[in-house]
Amino acid sequence: MPPCGFTIFFLLCTHGPPHMGYKSGAPSALVRTRSIAVPRQNHFFLCGLQSTRMAPRTSALINPAQLASNTVRVSWRAAVRLRAGHPWVYRSDLEGSPSLPRAGVVRVLEEGGRFLGCAISSSSSQIALRMISDRDCDETELPSLVSTRIKAAIEYRNALRIPEQSNAYRLVFSEADQLPGLIVDRYNDVLAFQVLTQAMDRKEVREAIIQTLETEIHPAGIVERVEERIRELEELPAIEAGLIRGDKMQTIIEMRAEPGKSPLCFEYDAAAGQKTGAFLDQRENYAAAQRYAHGSALDVFCYQGGFALHLARACEQVIGVDGSRSALEAGERNFELNRSSLTAPEIEWLEANAFDLLRDWSDTGRKFQTIVLDPPAFAKTKKALPTALRGYKELNLRALKMLEPGGILVTCTCSHHVSQEEFLGMLAESARDAHRRIRLLEVRGQSQDHPVVAGIPETAYLKCVIAFAE
Ligand code: SAH
Repeated sequence: MPPCGFTIFFLLCTHGPPHMGYKSGAPSALVRTRSIAVPRQNHFFLCGLQSTRMAPRTSALINPAQLASNTVRVSWRAAVRLRAGHPWVYRSDLEGSPSLPRAGVVRVLEEGGRFLGCAISSSSSQIALRMISDRDCDETELPSLVSTRIKAAIEYRNALRIPEQSNAYRLVFSEADQLPGLIVDRYNDVLAFQVLTQAMDRKEVREAIIQTLETEIHPAGIVERVEERIRELEELPAIEAGLIRGDKMQTIIEMRAEPGKSPLCFEYDAAAGQKTGAFLDQRENYAAAQRYAHGSALDVFCYQGGFALHLARACEQVIGVDGSRSALEAGERNFELNRSSLTAPEIEWLEANAFDLLRDWSDTGRKFQTIVLDPPAFAKTKKALPTALRGYKELNLRALKMLEPGGILVTCTCSHHVSQEEFLGMLAESARDAHRRIRLLEVRGQSQDHPVVAGIPETAYLKCVIAFAE
């Protein structure tokens, strides 16, 4: 059974390359627009299996006669997956085709009757159960469990001293923080949260989420982000995105690439249709890219300049390329916020289809010393992987042809369907076809505030390779 629910959600979060024209060689201004692309967003519905508050785990066999309505048996196959640490049970793995409660908390047993833990249930998703605890629990405990888990997620980031690097980071990352279907991002004094599962959308759970965030973080504003299609798939009522608490939706965030150095600033506007700021999952990769960057730099798929601004701290010339005019306009505003602390006197923002631009520039012999490739996820499904890898290869091949000897390539994929091995294989093939020898300086993932959990491969979705081209 493929992870349909995950795939469905991922489909919503990714998009292929739009086809746009471009004007090359444009001055440091924005050129014409034809379409605005939606940036990627990664939402995970994953969870761990630990609790600090629940009653001790019981491994006793349960008499079938004692099976309560909130108890579900799962197949041997599902039990093996749960034991290995993966928190999902697909609908096809439920024994006896039970009709699951909407937004419930159910006790999960394996075929033989052994207790496996508790899960939140969905009446609509193909991922019928998402484990929330390996202990026994009931519905009334859900709000306090959620609250405890949010506090633990905040403590985890504090223990890693993430707030010293940035005041913008992911506070809660769904299953990676044992809170399936809850995402909370901190943008300085504004919090943006999103609820993606039926159980997290329960009134008393939502109240617990907001209350805990207020008490722990004291934000000036809490905004709710809404993915309409996910809410439809989860059969959740339609709601409006917007301010839930406080009065603030816009702020300035800071990212500090090096300790003791002044941070870079980015605008964040939760009121804008697209989220603004920078991709929080790339924060540590921005800093890594800055460490190697030199000379003239090209940031392809630059969005609002997350990489471009960091490159501008180390490079003399920087060009940012994206298909979204509004993203480039925000990039220029971000440049102005940081102008005085940058090495590059300006950043040239170019609205273009990256594929067309790279093909033309590599054919005409244009050269750079540093190139960043951070496209949206091309692999929307596992089936689309071969096409996606061809897309990545085309971009990487062109970029490698355009790199001067000694140049740096920073190349990323944010698709969990593309494994690190496949991505590195694609890169090696691109280098071979470009007749370049490359050395891998760093093979990286997402920032630590987007935890990767052993046993849940979907949590390791972002790959970022920094390579030196001989
Ligand atoms: N590097 C950015 C994030 C990039 S997200 C950061 O760190 O903030 C992917 C971006 O690719 C989006 O901004 C989207 O507008 C852009 N995009 C998608 N398809 C494109 C195409 N074919 N050509 C140019 N830009 C494209």
